[in-house]
Amino acid sequence: MKNIKSNEVAVLVSGPFNEPFDYSVESIKDGVCVGQVVLVPFGKRKNVGIIVGEGTRTIPKEKLKRIEEIYEINPIPQPSIELINFLANWYCVCKGLVLKMVLSPVEAITSTQYRKVYKSKFQDSDEIEAINEYKITSKRKLILDFLFKSKQAVFQEDLIDNTGVSKSILKDMTKKNLIVQEFVKKQAYSNLKVHNYNKIKFEINKLLNPEQKNAVEKINVSIKKKKPDCFLLDGVPGSGKTETYFQTVKTCLDEGKQILILLPEISLTPDWEKRFYQTFSFAPLVWHSGITKTKKKQIWLSALNSSAGVIVGARSALMLPILNLGLIIVDEEHDPAFKQEEGVRYNARDMAIYKAIRSSVPIVLASATPSLETYHNMKIGKYIHLTLPKRATGAALPDIKLIDLKVNTPDRGKWISSVLTNEIKSKLDNREQSLLFLNRRGYAPLTICNSCGNKIKCVNCETWLVEHRSQNTLVCHHCGYTKRISNTCDICGTEGRIKACGPGVERIEEEINQLFPKAKLTVLSSDTMKSQKTLVKTLEKIKNNKVDIIIGTQMIAKGHDFPDLKLVGIIDSDVGLSGGDLRASERSFQLLQQVSGRSGRHAIDERDKGVVFLQTYDNENPIIRAIAKNNRDDFFEKELSSRKNANMPPYGRLAAIIISSKYERKLDGFASELLRVAPLFKNVKIFGPAPAPLYFLRGKYRRRFLIKSNKTVNIQDVLLNWTNKIKTPHNVKLTIDIDPFSFM
Ligand code: ADP
Ligand code: ZN
Repeated sequence: MKNIKSNEVAVLVSGPFNEPFDYSVESIKDGVCVGQVVLVPFGKRKNVGIIVGEGTRTIPKEKLKRIEEIYEINPIPQPSIELINFLANWYCVCKGLVLKMVLSPVEAITSTQYRKVYKSKFQDSDEIEAINEYKITSKRKLILDFLFKSKQAVFQEDLIDNTGVSKSILKDMTKKNLIVQEFVKKQAYSNLKVHNYNKIKFEINKLLNPEQKNAVEKINVSIKKKKPDCFLLDGVPGSGKTETYFQTVKTCLDEGKQILILLPEISLTPDWEKRFYQTFSFAPLVWHSGITKTKKKQIWLSALNSSAGVIVGARSALMLPILNLGLIIVDEEHDPAFKQEEGVRYNARDMAIYKAIRSSVPIVLASATPSLETYHNMKIGKYIHLTLPKRATGAALPDIKLIDLKVNTPDRGKWISSVLTNEIKSKLDNREQSLLFLNRRGYAPLTICNSCGNKIKCVNCETWLVEHRSQNTLVCHHCGYTKRISNTCDICGTEGRIKACGPGVERIEEEINQLFPKAKLTVLSSDTMKSQKTLVKTLEKIKNNKVDIIIGTQMIAKGHDFPDLKLVGIIDSDVGLSGGDLRASERSFQLLQQVSGRSGRHAIDERDKGVVFLQTYDNENPIIRAIAKNNRDDFFEKELSSRKNANMPPYGRLAAIIISSKYERKLDGFASELLRVAPLFKNVKIFGPAPAPLYFLRGKYRRRFLIKSNKTVNIQDVLLNWTNKIKTPHNVKLTIDIDPFSFM
């Protein structure tokens, strides 16, 4: 890290600041260096920050404030600093806010990770007798003798325990230079040391099939040569992607490097951890929103002091300042959960690629259903394509069949066709499992009064309330607003005409219960699996074939490996196809493919093969057809050509401005103002302002602009120039969303 000899330095302060501030440092023998974490006075408070360079020398010496503390931890590594700058510029946010995410939890830095120790400064006991500048009281003598006899540094706590003196005496004696005070680091949490990592030499799994071997070898070369290659590890569900990247993790550990594995939060299952443990015989450090602050502190520190071997985490793990990075893996790279939609809006997958490049390390994007951007980048040769075309266990891919609901229509108020019912029955007879997928929580997505037509809506949002019959409530899935189910309409007062419309998983459960009263059911959704413990138990039950029929939302789509699952029934394949936003069809395709991949993962022969049934009213739909024919690339090519025609990503660039306010008139006033000063460029198109699809959300009105440009345009510059032309009024919030995922 670059050394700075100057005693004036620039500090990027954590918080909403884009430029660094100048501070002075006391002259330090070796100077300070870029990346060092410091505490600085800031207004009336103190803030943490990092040194980013020399000061500007434009502030008079007497006005310059002094750095209060330089923390004795490793400086933030250069690639992390570059990531802060790049991410801030790309997403039009303040660098200091990105820094704040990097220095998080801040207690890892500010709370004492150091223990005070004391040492004697004397070689000979006569020297103690000869002290004459200060009066040596009996307490002082006790300490001088104790330390002298100890011959080594003594922890402050131990010294106090042994001598009974107070901290203030120690402090005073240190000041008078009678004893020497030092700090030693508390041992940061480490999964390498605990497991005696250095002695482990991993064996490459000999059972890998040729495609897996090829993939491992290619990635290994890049790890060893420190080449920032980006690999797309592309294989059907169950093709052994996880096994493959585990092998590369081993290589990287053998090289003595750290590994970062990013997973969507939902895929960070105990199952995954268990599998990791079975492979490596040590636990990875797991980082996600649910872990305690103490754990976070430990992981943060061990990332920075390079004692952490493997860190696996949800998107925010990207921000960890990993000192000795050797490899990044992004599993389920297509998952929209990598995009953060609040605060700093960034895409962790995209930024992980940048981080890998700046760190000169390879990155592996793994997916059975890559995102269109990634597929495109692979096609144009930016990413290296590694394919695993078969299921690793040798199991045949499931047969996929369509059920035309126009022909095979379920009875009124029912959702499962007779064809699907018969299939479930035959699986039950065989003691095999079925999975019914419907990506809708609760009992019914809409409740309506049959007398006046009133659709029951949220009071804070312009959305329908979802019925959760098991809780006897109607719930808003956007803001959490909840009210009790009532038999009387709030609007017209009619009693007994309130009706649930459409199905959610609870309603499918009810239907299955009526069809197969003896079958053992379980519902997997975020409502039924509130704790990790419940989830673990349920997954275990499914694995051990203690469940006959599983009903689930997207929670069930990913990763899980259920040996006895032979039938997947998609209750409503048409959900999500009509979303109308940029990625609606892509996402729908991915989700349906993921769910289909659960079927028959361990089938031994043809007869034993898994099967997938898609119920649809739209069996001519290109997405449904592509899934039925198991023709992913065909779907991708069609989707890409339609994006190309529309100059949409990955061919063009897209950004959004979302403005929101409690005051609708004020908001509309500002929206017209913005439109008036909108820039005119040949290759930039501005749409809006339009009411957002969720135009009233959490008590605020919302308007959106959509900005589309050619790839050559610096869309960030355009947006900043534009939004800086007028001041955003107080009470209005303006958010820029680059490469938006959500169009709501
Ligand atoms: P993916 O990540 O692509 O879904 P996994 O790595 O989870 O696939 O592998 C699917 C299943 O196949 C797992 O049970 C795994 O242990 C097994 N498996 C992976 N590679 C092999 C192999 N080379 N030989 C036999 N079984 C394998
Ligand atoms: Zn609401």
